[in-house]
Order: sequence, then structure tokens, then C-alpha cells
Amino acid sequence: MSYHVNEKGYYGEFGGAFIPEMLYPNTEELRQNYLSIMEEPSFKEEFQQLLRDYVGRPTPLYFAERMSERYKTKIYLKREDLNHTGAHKVNNTVGQILMAKKLGKNRIIAETGAGQHGVATATVCALMGIECVVYMGEVDIARQAPNVARMKMLGAEVRPALSGSRTLKDATNEAIRDWINNPVDTHYIIGSVVGPHPYPDMVARFQSVISEEIKTQLLEKEGRENPDYVVACVGGGSNAAGAYYHFLDNPEVGIIAVEAAGKGIDTGESAATSALGKVGIIHGSKTLLMQTPDGQITEPYSISAGLDYPGVGPLHAHLFRSGRGEFISITDDEAMTAGLTLCQMEGIIPAIESSHAFAILEQRKFNPTDVVVMNLSGRGDKDLQNYIDYFKL
Ligand SMILES: *Cc1c(COP(=O)(O)O)cnc(C)c1O
Repeated sequence: MSYHVNEKGYYGEFGGAFIPEMLYPNTEELRQNYLSIMEEPSFKEEFQQLLRDYVGRPTPLYFAERMSERYKTKIYLKREDLNHTGAHKVNNTVGQILMAKKLGKNRIIAETGAGQHGVATATVCALMGIECVVYMGEVDIARQAPNVARMKMLGAEVRPALSGSRTLKDATNEAIRDWINNPVDTHYIIGSVVGPHPYPDMVARFQSVISEEIKTQLLEKEGRENPDYVVACVGGGSNAAGAYYHFLDNPEVGIIAVEAAGKGIDTGESAATSALGKVGIIHGSKTLLMQTPDGQITEPYSISAGLDYPGVGPLHAHLFRSGRGEFISITDDEAMTAGLTLCQMEGIIPAIESSHAFAILEQRKFNPTDVVVMNLSGRGDKDLQNYIDYFKL
């Protein structure tokens, strides 16, 4: 079985491009060009140079000695938290801004929920001197003031989405409307392995630098390229896709996906898509998503803003359905406790998204000789207030 996208844009039964007719020229231009552009030597060179000199790659693969002792297995942390802007998201926005330039676009739009993708997009637009408009739900603008301020400082315009629940899905609708109206000069930077084909594949390829580096670094440290397990949290699934990418076709590498259970899978306040989702279409892609019996998208919930998404990318739906991936869901409480454990055992304050991945160590047993790579998707600075409120610090 293949775990990569086919020519039609599908992973198994998931994926595709379910878009309004008027968006067809935009996605078609991208579809016809993205692979050949990514293959161009000048593109590769500039991408690699920016990842190295601007983002700070390669990120370390760190052997977590105290955690390894505690959980009786060999735990390595892939330090995506050390990237410029504090998470893996910038790997993708650097790639897409270069893609936009190659396609001759001089204007960027994006949507953002918690603001992390908006900041990563505004960052690369400033870097390139390109106009940037970020759509954000009015409710999220109020909730995420520091990231709104960051985007403004970086020169982006933050446009409020005023319709519906005034959150991420409404911002996405506004961004799509903008793209339909500006098909020639504008590129839409999507922030995860979601959306119509070719976005899930393109974003996975940009993020695949994570597993490419893991292979080289593990060979150096363990004398072998392949870990026994790779663990990552899944919101839309981009950090996970990047961490799994070069291991997907190797069945000896176990793939573990960690979703946010929120207050618990059965509480109605959850974002555990593999447990709760049904097949449906969201953001132009056929995938698993949380919905009511009559097909309305359910509002997701997680303490972590980055995992608070009602679907997963089509690759992850396929990994779940095919059994290639092991899916585990973690509650808010379990994640917060695991985050604090990482702080106090390794001196690293993780993003709450990443804390979800670490929480599986309390319940999923590994062998003492197993090499387990945990993708530490981001740093916890942005979540400090959440940690303060939760632990009454
Ligand atoms: C946005 C974000 C996530 C979730 O997004 P994915 O596309 O699933 O990776 C996870 N961790 C951090 C730190 C994030 O900022």
C-alpha cells in the first residue's frame, strides 16, 4: 500500500479537490507547477539556505536522558521548538513564499485561528517584502491579542472575519473568497496538510525536512537511520506529516499520532477526530471530520489552540483507516501534566500541542531498547498564560 498521494490527489479514499468552480484556475496552476518548481535547483538551493540561515536548521535531535530513564526506553526529542518563530510552521511558510515568488505572485493571503500560522506567514512576507493579508475570526482576534500584535509589527494586515462563529472556519471562508477574487496576483498560504490537492502533499514535502534530518542524526547517534517509533501531535497534521514522511513506507517504523481529547472523548468538548470523525468534506478535501448526524461541522474543543481543529488532513485519515498509524487521544489534564513533567525533567517548556505527544509516555509502554523519536513541535512561550492559569503559578 502507498501512503503518498496519487496523481489524482488521493491518499486511499481521502483527499481530492472539492472546490468551487471559480477556484479551479488557482489550484490548477499550483497543481501543474508545484512539483517541477520544487525540483528546480535554484528553488532547492534558496529553500535550503533559508532553512539553514534564517530558520536555524537543522534542529537538534536530543537524547532525553532523564526521560529515557523514567519511561525505560530511549527517547529522542526532535527540537522543532528551536526554529525561528518557535515551531515547525515556518518550514512550510518559507517553502510557500518561495513557491509564490516562482509563480509570479506579489500578494499573500492566509487564514489563522490561534495566530501561529498567521505569524509564520507574516514573518516570511516581511522577509521577502511581499504584501500580506491574514484573515482571522473576530473572536480569535480578541482571544489571541499577542499574535495579532506580532502580525501587525511584521507589517501584515489582519482582517477580521465577522460571519458565523467568527473563528477559524469563517476566516478560511473569507480567505477563499479573497482568492477567488484575486486569482492572478495572489497566493494563498495554507498552514497545515489540509485543503484541496495539491496543498496536503506540498505542505508535507516542505515539512519532510524534519524526518530527513532525523534519519541523518539517528545514523550518527544510534548507527541506524530508522527509529522504532515516531510520535507527533496532530491538529491538521503538518508537524506529524513532516516527522513521519521518510518513514511512511517502512513498516518497521511505528507511527504514533496523538490527538486532543479535550475534556474527554465522550464529553462533547473534544478534538479527537479519529475517534469521533466521519467521512466528509472540509476545506476542499475529503477526510475524517467531526460532524453532526446531518453533516454540520461540530465545534471542536481543546485547551491547545493548535489542536482545536474539527478534521485531520487526508494523509492522516488514510493512516488511521489503513491501520498504518496508531492513534491515541490525550485529555487537557494529561497534556498539561506531561508538559510540566518535560519542563522539570529536561528543562524544556513545550507548546501545549507538543505536550499532548509527551503524555502518551504515561500509558503506552515501549521496550527498553526501542528508539522513540518525539517531535517537539513548538515552544511554550505562547502558552505561558494557559500554564499559569492551569497550575495557579
Ligand atoms: C499549529 C501547531 C500544531 C498543530 O498543527 P499541525 O499542522 O497538526 O502540526 C502543533 N504544534 C504546534 C507548536 C503548533 O504551533
